[in-house]
Amino acid sequence: MSGDWDRQGPVDGDTDQQEMIPSKKSAVLVDGVVLNGPTTDAKAGEKFVEEACRLIMEEVVLKATDVNEKVCEWRPPEQLKQLLDLEMRDSGEPPHRLLELCRDVIRYSVKTNHPRFFNQLYAGLDYYSLVARFMTEALNPSVYTYEVSPVFLLVEEAVLKKMIEFIGWKEGDGIFNPGGSVSNMYAINLARYKYHPDIKEKGLFGLPRLILFTSAECHYSMKKAASFLGIGTENVCFVETDGRGKMIPEELEKKVCQARKEGAAPFLVCATSGTTVLGAFDPLDEIADICERHSLWLHVDASWGGSALMSRKHRKLLHGIHRADSVAWNPHKMLMAGIQCCALLVKDNSDLLKECYSAKASYLFQQDKFYDVSYDTGDKSIQCSRRPDAFKFWMTWKALGTLGLEERVNRALALSRSFRFCIFLIFSCHCHTRSVCLSPLAMILRPPQPCGPVSPIKTFLPSLGYISLSAAWKWTNTVN
Ligand SMILES: *Cc1c(COP(=O)(O)O)cnc(C)c1O
Repeated sequence: MSGDWDRQGPVDGDTDQQEMIPSKKSAVLVDGVVLNGPTTDAKAGEKFVEEACRLIMEEVVLKATDVNEKVCEWRPPEQLKQLLDLEMRDSGEPPHRLLELCRDVIRYSVKTNHPRFFNQLYAGLDYYSLVARFMTEALNPSVYTYEVSPVFLLVEEAVLKKMIEFIGWKEGDGIFNPGGSVSNMYAINLARYKYHPDIKEKGLFGLPRLILFTSAECHYSMKKAASFLGIGTENVCFVETDGRGKMIPEELEKKVCQARKEGAAPFLVCATSGTTVLGAFDPLDEIADICERHSLWLHVDASWGGSALMSRKHRKLLHGIHRADSVAWNPHKMLMAGIQCCALLVKDNSDLLKECYSAKASYLFQQDKFYDVSYDTGDKSIQCSRRPDAFKFWMTWKALGTLGLEERVNRALALSRSFRFCIFLIFSCHCHTRSVCLSPLAMILRPPQPCGPVSPIKTFLPSLGYISLSAAWKWTNTVN
């Protein structure tokens, strides 16, 4: 755009110079830079956005459910580097070239919305949260103050309120974070702050040896949080689990007493609702009893399993969750809000989150604004700029209603039950036949163990299991 301007020309002293309507005559030059010229070519930009949106629609959204499309055009890193033009050069590239690049990016990326894409976290494509993501990307808000994000802050408040209702608390507080791991860190830090409020000013100096308890099947973010927060991974006490992966409450109580005897300071128990590998739900009621007896903060990592709260049929898995002090819950898992969408919820009406995390930056969180500054919730966060993640969940909730979300959960759990049955079938067949098993999955899960006489029905059964297994794959991924 600078071509339109006479960069060399002296700035004359006439009144045109003051006008902000750009014209060749009125260029305001400072340090050789034209200040009142357009910074980008809006027309070209708009056209590029339009064409890129069409590309996204055609190549990503419309192909998302097409099983004839590949999940991924896989290339090893060195080969992919050759195929993609990754170099950033001194001069920019024209729009048609950029669109080619966009096409390549889509082509070689994994289609996480594809019905045959299997990975942890993902459950399919939710069109409504996708639109919410498009909108927030376009609006580019930051949910720190009401003046910058009036709508998104109110949306976050409404979503948190509803999630709190589902947990069963009369009141509470919360914040959306970039990930369940981060929510867990927030909770541990919050519990420690409650245990020893001086820590905010004084730091770790002078603290006793703090120790936290969680099950041996907990998410690895517990260890990360302990090291990040200066607690130390050796001060995470892993409590034994039963055969199904649930924390054994008696073991927990023993460990708490033992730690006290050793002079350590227990301050928190983290129960898991939906463990990462086995999907186990810790017995919250019994754990809450122990926490009460020993005055420990109870955090429930329901990052995955929290969504079961939306199902009247399955919410009993989290029985006792209303007794927790804090809960981490990721709607971006079973409920399919886009990544990331993760809430930390806290049973509190004393502004504990804000007390613990606020820094009261006077340039941002002024107390004399022209509106109710309690809506400037950004100071509850350790972030400054923050994405409006609650909005994705809100759109989905609006589109499906609570009943639709409940159906989503019931369906996911029914599918996993049917899938488990198929694996069981293959497993048991495998165990009772001398034939080489047909299923590579079963081979991985359990090497051949010939232990019975060969019978035609037993050799036939594995293939039956295999067929059911493929059917289950299909069901699992036919969304809605
Ligand atoms: C997924 C999960 C996490 C981590 O959540 P991220 O959003 O991936 O950080 C933590 N705990 C449990 C139990 C989980 O299932």
